[in-house]
Amino acid sequence: MHFFTYKNNKLYAEDIAVSELVREFGTPLYIYSYATLIRHIRAYEEAFCEVPHIICYAVKANSNLAILSLCAELGIGADIVSGGELFRALKAGIKPFRIVFAGVGKTEQEIEYALKNNILMFNVESEAELYKINEVAKKLKKHACVALRVNPDIDPKTHKYIATGLRTSKFGIPIEKALEYYKLAKSLKNIKIIGIHKHIGSQITDTSAYVEALSKILSLYDKLAKYDVDIEYIDIGGGLGITYKDEEPPLPKDLANALIPLIKSKKGKIIVEPGRSIVGNAGILVTKVLYTKETGSKNFIIVDAGMNDLIRPSLYGSYHEILPVTPDKRQKIVTDIVGPICESGDFLAKDREIEKITPGEHLAVMSAGAYGFSMSSNYNSRPRAAEVLVKGENYALIRKRETYKDLIKNEIIPEDIL
Ligand SMILES: *Cc1c(COP(=O)(O)O)cnc(C)c1O
Repeated sequence: MHFFTYKNNKLYAEDIAVSELVREFGTPLYIYSYATLIRHIRAYEEAFCEVPHIICYAVKANSNLAILSLCAELGIGADIVSGGELFRALKAGIKPFRIVFAGVGKTEQEIEYALKNNILMFNVESEAELYKINEVAKKLKKHACVALRVNPDIDPKTHKYIATGLRTSKFGIPIEKALEYYKLAKSLKNIKIIGIHKHIGSQITDTSAYVEALSKILSLYDKLAKYDVDIEYIDIGGGLGITYKDEEPPLPKDLANALIPLIKSKKGKIIVEPGRSIVGNAGILVTKVLYTKETGSKNFIIVDAGMNDLIRPSLYGSYHEILPVTPDKRQKIVTDIVGPICESGDFLAKDREIEKITPGEHLAVMSAGAYGFSMSSNYNSRPRAAEVLVKGENYALIRKRETYKDLIKNEIIPEDIL
């Protein structure tokens, strides 16, 4: 559900015509809908309202400060995976006691930074990391609150690059080892165990994998009680899918309905870490058609947004709906929609049926709010896109378009060597 709709044959972002925003800010342009973001966050809050819970927005899905500030304002927390994301979350005003820190490669500096800022907990992904966190905490004369990220060996039936809970994945601690590591954690003086964590993957479109994974985690939870390990937080991760094409993923309410019966009898707060399902459908990427080309065997629409702006089609073969900003009921063609980057993998869509479009017109790449801008780069020395947030009839630039100067601002020509 989102607020990008056609009115009088023009695509609107809430109450603003996309063409108007393009005129003011140019392309490629990311446009986000405030109403959509709020709706999704509230859907999670309401879904889990009958149990104690914290919604920790997964910052990596879209880390723009304006979006994080909106999260702060609504009183939700953050799931972070780096020191940089912690910096952003704190800057935006997200409360440290609602921040959880995951990731297999936390550095000593990142651990120290997080400890100094008193985050809620580290989601620890290995035995070695447990020792490292203990050591840093000892140096700072603090106790580090931790959960162990347990890998329940569940296939979430999603793209292999975004499945994270299989035995062969780099993430988490194998469930058979978990009890041993909890005992180890208990013996470390500067570690305080407060939770258990799992995250099995992304773009999950049915609840059965969640139920299966949570059941496994909860049997561990029950075992831990016998060893006098007190679990205050059960962190079930993120991963709920969204509709890109014809998927019918569960809603937060469906997820809650499937999981709450399992956890209701347990004491402890639930943490949920949604990313994609909050921002995915709340954003679009608008691009200008530069050229059309027919090679005899194929049609191409060449646009001004490339894989540096939105890498999902290239990286995962992902499908994004692509809509004309001003449709005109013209004859349809089957075409590839490609960017200007010098890579054959630079495409937004393959063999897509779309009405015949002319250069100078604009296309909207839908559902681009998650893992869109946050995965963008400067490849081919392309300045990154601008980002705009729309709220009803109002809108604001939330990230300036980069300039050529921005591209080189950290580079140095070493005069003494050259
Ligand atoms: C990426 C990630 C999430 C968010 O996943 P979505 O599929 O975007 O909801 C949550 N938790 C952890 C640990 C992650 O790495």
